[in-house]
Amino acid sequence: MAGINVHKMLHSLILGCLISPVWAAPVQVQNVRIWAAPDSTRVVFDLSGPVQHEVTVAGDPDRVVVDIEGALTPTNSSQPEGHDRFLRHVNTVPFDLGARFVLDLKKTAVAKSFQLGPNQHYGHRLVLDLGDVQDEQSADEPVAPTAPTSDERRDIIIAVDAGHGGDDPGARGPKGTWEKNITLQMARVLAAKINAEPGMRAVLTREGDYFLPLRKRMDMARRHKADLFVSIHADAFRDRRVQGSSVYVLSDRGASSEHARWLAEQENASDLIGGVSLDVEDDVLASVLLDLSQTASLEASIDVAERVLQGLRKIGRLHKHRVESAGFMVLKSPDIPSILVEAAYISNPDEEAKLRSPPHQQKIAEAILSGLRGYFTARAPEGTTLAAIRRHVIGRGDTLSGIAQQYRVSLDTLRQANRINGDQIRVGQVLTIPSAGDG
Ligand SMILES: [Zn+2]
Repeated sequence: MAGINVHKMLHSLILGCLISPVWAAPVQVQNVRIWAAPDSTRVVFDLSGPVQHEVTVAGDPDRVVVDIEGALTPTNSSQPEGHDRFLRHVNTVPFDLGARFVLDLKKTAVAKSFQLGPNQHYGHRLVLDLGDVQDEQSADEPVAPTAPTSDERRDIIIAVDAGHGGDDPGARGPKGTWEKNITLQMARVLAAKINAEPGMRAVLTREGDYFLPLRKRMDMARRHKADLFVSIHADAFRDRRVQGSSVYVLSDRGASSEHARWLAEQENASDLIGGVSLDVEDDVLASVLLDLSQTASLEASIDVAERVLQGLRKIGRLHKHRVESAGFMVLKSPDIPSILVEAAYISNPDEEAKLRSPPHQQKIAEAILSGLRGYFTARAPEGTTLAAIRRHVIGRGDTLSGIAQQYRVSLDTLRQANRINGDQIRVGQVLTIPSAGDG
């Protein structure tokens, strides 16, 4: 076996097994599910109960062996799709002590495994995450930003976050619509609209149906130097009559309403549903630090949230007429203003139908965009293309020639830039002020 590099990654011991009878009915591996993300692949083994398992990573050829002690092999096993970066094939092989899975890899990978207890959607699970070797060390290193040169103006970057994904499906509508699919569709529509705006560019945190830990979503926004983080969700409630859109900002002082608190618990549970191995102590410390640095962007978050809420008010019913605050973990991106949009109630049959309708998805995205546009028009970050576009809101007593003088542009240039023929202007009208060199 020379040349084969074998190391044990994780060996989990379930204490319950020590006291429960060893000869109890064997655990059944009911299904094997595979979720391929751009930089990782998750394999989920659905189990009839907790197990003892062992994961071994081997090289030459690259593969991962998963032994599940005393378990029966499944009748169902998915195979990876062609675009999977890590997994080539899943083999179920006979094994004296239980079920053995040999995962043929396309490349060398690191493997992490952990078990999850039942939740509202799934039973016991053994989760195996495959990732790039170098990701282990470089995960916390920020990517060096490409700094614009002094005369180069950059686009405003908006991180559009489709809630949930993969084995975290989110809420479910009465017709069986999963929140994770709606959020991805709406995120794509919103991103396309943002990309069609001059001076704005969208970055999608999730681009397919896979699980993405909340922290990774924030890291992506930070790595892309996003100016704003918008997380898209669809609300759900036991009472199917409840409906309307809501917009949330993060609060470190507790939730603004009972429902906000309940909702934050549901959404934060995403990492528990999807499963992520967190170092608990590190996490508490990190969230305290994040809370402290969040204060600076909270005011900005409220501003943009109010504008988005105004936009949504025009297309339908609001659940609450004020911006709500709650302790959403996904919003804890220091220094990046962040909002969470619950587009509608997927649990309400009418709103479920609307959420599925492409024309209505367009309307929701347009409403959100109108809020973003208003916010960035008023508060374009320095150095951006949008900041270079000056605007003047006509007040009482303003004249076209007076405005031209004020901004040191010619009257004709001002007329041309705003397609005005005479001198007629009205209060509240927004004029684009061309830079002195234009025209
Ligand atoms: Zn959600």
